[in-house]
Amino acid sequence: MIVAALLSALAMIAIVALRYLATSGLFAWATMRRRPGLYASLGPQIRREIGWSLLSAAIYGLPAGIVAWGWHEHGWTLIYTDPLDYPLWVLPLSLFAYLFAHDTWFYWTHRWMHRPRLFRLAHAVHHASRPPTAWAAMSFHPIEAITGAVVIPVLVFLVPIHVAVLGLVLAIMTVMGVTNHMGWEMFPRALLRSRAGGWLITASHHQRHHEHYGCNYGLYFRFWDRLCGTDRGLSDRFAR
Ligand SMILES: [Zn+2]
Ligand SMILES: [Zn+2]
Repeated sequence: MIVAALLSALAMIAIVALRYLATSGLFAWATMRRRPGLYASLGPQIRREIGWSLLSAAIYGLPAGIVAWGWHEHGWTLIYTDPLDYPLWVLPLSLFAYLFAHDTWFYWTHRWMHRPRLFRLAHAVHHASRPPTAWAAMSFHPIEAITGAVVIPVLVFLVPIHVAVLGLVLAIMTVMGVTNHMGWEMFPRALLRSRAGGWLITASHHQRHHEHYGCNYGLYFRFWDRLCGTDRGLSDRFAR
């Protein structure tokens, strides 16, 4: 039983690592095409980003693999496979609930990581990327990686979610984590300046966090930043 759970954890670690390499690789390639030379002098930094990210992949994969094994073998969690098990409105609501819960957890733990002692101990690893690249998506000290790794494995015990919606949550998490760090904005400016777009976090918003540190702490939405007065708008370097 323990062996099976550990094998599942190992498989999940491999999946998370490959997902990182594939997604960061794809957007690093896109960066080469759209912004040639942007990463030209960043070779040593990128190697560090990949090293920390692969370590983070192991930390993310361990609890996720054990929970996946428990779900498959023992029916743990509130993940369901028949869309009709709950009313259909649970599908979009659960997507939003997961993103908002993760965003809330991230905002407050991220602010906490910026306290001087913890910053020096852990979060400095993430900010050592100056400027960040598409490879920095999971470039975290293990302490920070643990705070991120527990979120989804805990949420699946608390909030029902269809397995496909969970896949969508993970896809959004992965793509936004990479693109928010890649050094250029892929969304049209008109969308970012729109009423709804003004609540979303993309590269233009997170880049400003990497430029100024004490602002723009959010993950997906600008809700907490605006509510707490830590929103300093979008980086102006990304006009397109
Ligand atoms: Zn960042
Ligand atoms: Zn930070």
